[in-house]
Amino acid sequence: MSDHRARLRRVLAQRRALQAVAARAPDALVVLDANGRVEWCNAAACHLLQLSWPADRGIDLAARLGPAELGHWLRAGHGEGDDLAAPGDAAVRLQVTLLPYAAGGQVLLARDVSRISRLEQVRRDFVANVSHELRTPLTVIHGYLELLDPEDVPALAPVLGEMRVQSQRMRQIVEDLLALSRLEMERRLPEEHIGMTTLLQTLRNEAEALSQGRHRITLHDDAGLDLLGSPTDLHSAFSNLVSNAVRYTPTGGAIGIHWRRTAGGAEYAVTDTGFGIPAEHLSRLTERFYRVSSSRSRASGGTGLGLSIVKHVLSLHDARLHIASEPGRGSTFTCCFDASRLREATAAAN
Ligand code: ADP
Repeated sequence: MSDHRARLRRVLAQRRALQAVAARAPDALVVLDANGRVEWCNAAACHLLQLSWPADRGIDLAARLGPAELGHWLRAGHGEGDDLAAPGDAAVRLQVTLLPYAAGGQVLLARDVSRISRLEQVRRDFVANVSHELRTPLTVIHGYLELLDPEDVPALAPVLGEMRVQSQRMRQIVEDLLALSRLEMERRLPEEHIGMTTLLQTLRNEAEALSQGRHRITLHDDAGLDLLGSPTDLHSAFSNLVSNAVRYTPTGGAIGIHWRRTAGGAEYAVTDTGFGIPAEHLSRLTERFYRVSSSRSRASGGTGLGLSIVKHVLSLHDARLHIASEPGRGSTFTCCFDASRLREATAAAN
């Protein structure tokens, strides 16, 4: 009996110690019962979520938060909670998570990420501003270079040629950075019906033009489905993958463009029999300016931003990029779309 009491005392002491730590934790912590009512909250929750303890014991948290961003998020019960406005002060940004808790309840965790969010904004603005400021001078320089005729100064012809190539490269980098900045700021893209048969044909023609007969290019349009989304952005993403396949596949290789149904939706895939990518690089390929080989990327006219653009466009279409590759054998880049983005193909859209 005394054994039992001693164990009970130990458990209670542990419980009090844990609660004391939770009470002082820097992140907001709210324990909700199965009906979404507040069972307990810590000091950070009082401060960040404007609750008061113990006065708010038993209140319906979603109802209390009302139309605030966090209230919507809580009622939805899931989804992205990376950057939500704190109730009563939109300048305070919260990262929130809901975890299942005992007896059908939940624990709401909220962390103040205002500083990270501000730094992210400064970084985004800086890149967008620098790119924007560089655009006009580069256009002027490029324009004058185009006006100069190498035949007037034959001795400078090779220099002039190189200057044109480099100024075009800079222009492409600036355009790609501006495209990325725009995509980063976008919350939602237009949802237009995109006729895939026409788009795939255009992509194949682009591949043929870029390859100039150096590769065998095939198109497998088997899905009988169209996409809902932004036509220009999806074209840009799909065409980036095709252009990479051509640029990283030696003469004589094969390139396949595929559009097919999958269990949960459909996928657009580009296969090549090119150089391939060693496994250790795969997870970093969509980072800005990440290249497996800088010289190969530059020589083939790359900016190092293509896959980053692809990733952003796909994420705005609730889609994912999957990369499989084997050095020396080739690569497959697959864009996986959910059923919510798909429609049966109609002749009118194509
Ligand atoms: P880049 O403009 O350098 O091609 P990307 O962002 O499009 O930039 O691609 C990043 C890097 O991924 C490339 O530099 C290249 O090393 C690698 N890569 C992309 N596509 C392929 C491919 N189909 N085959 C082999 N390597 C590829």
